[in-house]
Amino acid sequence: MTATPPQPRVNWQAATITGTDAENARTRTLQLQVPGWPGHQAGQHVDVRLTAENGYQATRAYSLAGAPGEDPALTVVRAEGGEVSPYLVDVIQTGDQVELRGPIGGYFVWKPGPRRRPVLLLAGGSGVVPLRAMLRHRARLGDDTPMRLLYSVRSPEQVIYRRELAGQADRVSLLYTRTTPPGWPRPPARLDHTALAGQAWPPEQAPLAYVCGPTTFVEHAAGLLTDLGYTPADVRTERYG
Ligand SMILES: Cc1cc2nc3c(=O)[nH]c(=O)nc-3n(C[C@H](O)[C@H](O)[C@H](O)COP(=O)(O)OP(=O)(O)OC[C@H]3O[C@@H](n4cnc5c(N)ncnc54)[C@H](O)[C@@H]3O)c2cc1C
Repeated sequence: MTATPPQPRVNWQAATITGTDAENARTRTLQLQVPGWPGHQAGQHVDVRLTAENGYQATRAYSLAGAPGEDPALTVVRAEGGEVSPYLVDVIQTGDQVELRGPIGGYFVWKPGPRRRPVLLLAGGSGVVPLRAMLRHRARLGDDTPMRLLYSVRSPEQVIYRRELAGQADRVSLLYTRTTPPGWPRPPARLDHTALAGQAWPPEQAPLAYVCGPTTFVEHAAGLLTDLGYTPADVRTERYG
């Protein structure tokens, strides 16, 4: 008998906020309860729709932050002047509801394969969210696929999932682009060939790469991977725009 993968939900449904966790001064994780949630894969996202009292609606995509088998959760970074994220980070409370559609996406997902291909995760800013779901998925399964995260972030204050990632120091590297913690061995810098080559598996090992973050970061990182000899089809990207 073969297991049927979770089917995407195309209809909007109500999701209730069951808890919130501050990740840093501008980032919050929202725990959700969604009746009949079909389960999700690591890397998928949902659409969230807010409706104002005057009927105006705004819809944005948010990655699922938890591993498959965990309740749906979203981690939202406040975009100053944005329409939706400031509400989700600063205003919405436990017990409130949003409308949600998903899980969505079948390309930017990771699950263990029979070949145990090494997996390089490259995050820029809030792009760490679906990659954290992949790390959690691997850990919950006790899977031995080689997996590393290289997380590019502006400053120590902006790191998301700080404690969780610190507990996996052997597979997580931080790259600060504007400010570093005191005594950090590398001055602030953009992701470059040297930083990447220090983390990336050689192409001969048939690695997979997942790259997520702002469009400029994703294009830059994917270009560097191609320069290192990665096959473009093995570099999966998700652009947050
Ligand atoms: C597949 C996918 C998954 C995503 N997952 C996540 C996630 O897990 N976490 C997360 O935090 N984000 C995620 N995003 C990004 C998210 O969808 C939103 O784009 C983000 O939250 C900003 O939405 P907003 O409504 O707050 O800002 P918007 O209103 O869309 O504005 C975005 C930015 O543009 C600026 N802006 C808006 N209008 C103007 C204007 N007229 N002139 C100049 N500047 C302007 C705003 O100040 C703001 O900084 C994801 C995106 C995609 C596509």
